[in-house]
Amino acid sequence: MNERYDLHCHSSASDGALSPTELLDRAHRQGVTRLALTDHDTTAGLAEAQTAANAVGITLIPGIELSVTWENYCFHIVGLNLNPQYPPLLEGCRKIQDIRRERAEKIAYKLDKQRIPGALEAVKQAVGAGMVTRTHFADFLLAHHHVSTPQEAFDRYLGQGKSAYVATNWVSLEDALEWITGAGGIAVLAHPARYNLTASKMRRFLSSFKALGGQGLEVVYGRNNADDIDSASHYARAFDLAGSVGSDFHNPKNQWVELGRLNPLPTRIMPVWQFFQNPADSA
Ligand code: AMP
Ligand code: MN
Ligand code: MN
Ligand code: MN
Repeated sequence: MNERYDLHCHSSASDGALSPTELLDRAHRQGVTRLALTDHDTTAGLAEAQTAANAVGITLIPGIELSVTWENYCFHIVGLNLNPQYPPLLEGCRKIQDIRRERAEKIAYKLDKQRIPGALEAVKQAVGAGMVTRTHFADFLLAHHHVSTPQEAFDRYLGQGKSAYVATNWVSLEDALEWITGAGGIAVLAHPARYNLTASKMRRFLSSFKALGGQGLEVVYGRNNADDIDSASHYARAFDLAGSVGSDFHNPKNQWVELGRLNPLPTRIMPVWQFFQNPADSA
């Protein structure tokens, strides 16, 4: 059977707009056969996603996207095909969730100083027991007419160096890779073109990533272009990393990104799913 993979997306357990069930239904309608749910710093959506995946006949690959700080840069490491019950991973998620709560208070304080009150209460209410992300602050700014698009919320307030930006020390690359590989998962560097790194910095990062047990690079993702794919393929081959494909889908309102709508992985790149343990997955 011709499989359609999408190995990076978000549900309402982090900053996605759809519940895990809605997400799986949509993935099914888009022809996806193997989906990894990779919420930011939480595995809370996976149980519901598994039930929904069973109902529509999709193979769910349990995943996560961890926020990491390496040499003052924030990197996103996707973990694929992992055991979501692995205690150090759960402990690590709790740690990042604490960091997120503290950061949310600081972001709200900065907004308040700019005569935008009430952000903390609003985002807390929006997420309930879930993760607070900058996406939730962007939603708040939009709902209260401080901006007219989510992008503007990042450009004016939330993006790096903007007026409500809070520099954050996430967890170390060592810890994140230990949690993912300890949980039996494959660690993949997400969206490599989004970090705006020099080639030498990217090479240094990838050497550390590889040395610490990283095995994959997201060569194809939503919105990347042919140049990005070429460049990522080059790094994948230079560092002997497998290639992953993931849309990074968050919200159906974003018309540019759709579940499963991805360029093919270049044939010279080894697909990351060859690592997955279930023999049926490596076909
Ligand atoms: P956080 O992990 O809380 O810092 O939030 C990062 C999330 O914000 C990312 O995962 C994206 O979903 C979203 N994001 C980051 N930059 C932008 C942007 N320029 N426009 C829209 N969403 C963004
Ligand atoms: Mn996100
Ligand atoms: Mn990301
Ligand atoms: Mn993501």
